[in-house]
Amino acid sequence: MSIKLEHLNYIYSPGTAYEKQALKDICLEIPHGEFVGIIGHTGSGKSTLIQHLNGLIRATSGTIYYNGEDIYKEGYDMKKLRSQVGLVFQYPEHQLFEVDVLSDVCFGPKNQGFSPEECEEKAREALKLVGLKEKYYKSSPFELSGGQKRRAAIAGVLAMDPNVLVLDEPTAGLDPKGRDEILDQIAYLHQQRDMTVILVSHSMEDIAKYADRLIVMNKGQVLYNDRPKMVFSHYQELEQIGLAAPQVTYIMHDLKEKGFDVKVTATTVAEAA
Ligand code: ADP
Repeated sequence: MSIKLEHLNYIYSPGTAYEKQALKDICLEIPHGEFVGIIGHTGSGKSTLIQHLNGLIRATSGTIYYNGEDIYKEGYDMKKLRSQVGLVFQYPEHQLFEVDVLSDVCFGPKNQGFSPEECEEKAREALKLVGLKEKYYKSSPFELSGGQKRRAAIAGVLAMDPNVLVLDEPTAGLDPKGRDEILDQIAYLHQQRDMTVILVSHSMEDIAKYADRLIVMNKGQVLYNDRPKMVFSHYQELEQIGLAAPQVTYIMHDLKEKGFDVKVTATTVAEAA
């Protein structure tokens, strides 16, 4: 289930006074099973980019191949693509709306046409995967804590059994402990399921721990696309484009590679910075 982007461009409101080129000539390949971090300052094009991956936004020009197939070709099954590439939006808890958590997580599989029993089975499995305790299944989503809401929302996407899980700033608004917990859970999901994970963030700390590869966006373009340590080694350039604590993150990764027992977490990096 590889994803390939070829010369992707996207322009918001073309031909108007608000015209804005949000993506410029993006070429990327994401093989199946990788844990990819997309990082960049606010406004660098991260959200615009990921919304292309499941066809929510159609590129102004360029091509996207999902598993070798051009998603813009006539007759391509976009509905199927949307269930295969699960997108967890920023502040996903704003989309929780059913009476209880279980019903909310059932929503996706219900739309996919599964029977009520199958939906419940899928929902329970997804909730277990995100580590939400059974006592919350019948609670209103609004009674949950911030971190629990986030887990419920991620479960809602997982219940559709995607091959690719894309998360836009999954730690936004959480405290360092909540951030570490959610990121640990995402890493666990990546290990448990044969799934590609694409994690979007504006913070180095979130990405530092797990990503196999980092894509750095700047002004709608891909600035770096490499192993984390190689990317972090450009810490001066990263600082210049407004990313926090790249040098600390680089040092921690360097020590880790040299065999020191360094646990790089959001908490440690935040404290060191
Ligand atoms: P990021 O996710 O990195 O913060 P975005 O993809 O949201 O970046 O935004 C990239 C650029 O596109 C920014 O300059 C932003 O202002 C602009 N943009 C985003 N959404 C819209 C929109 N709906 N209409 C016009 N411009 C937009």
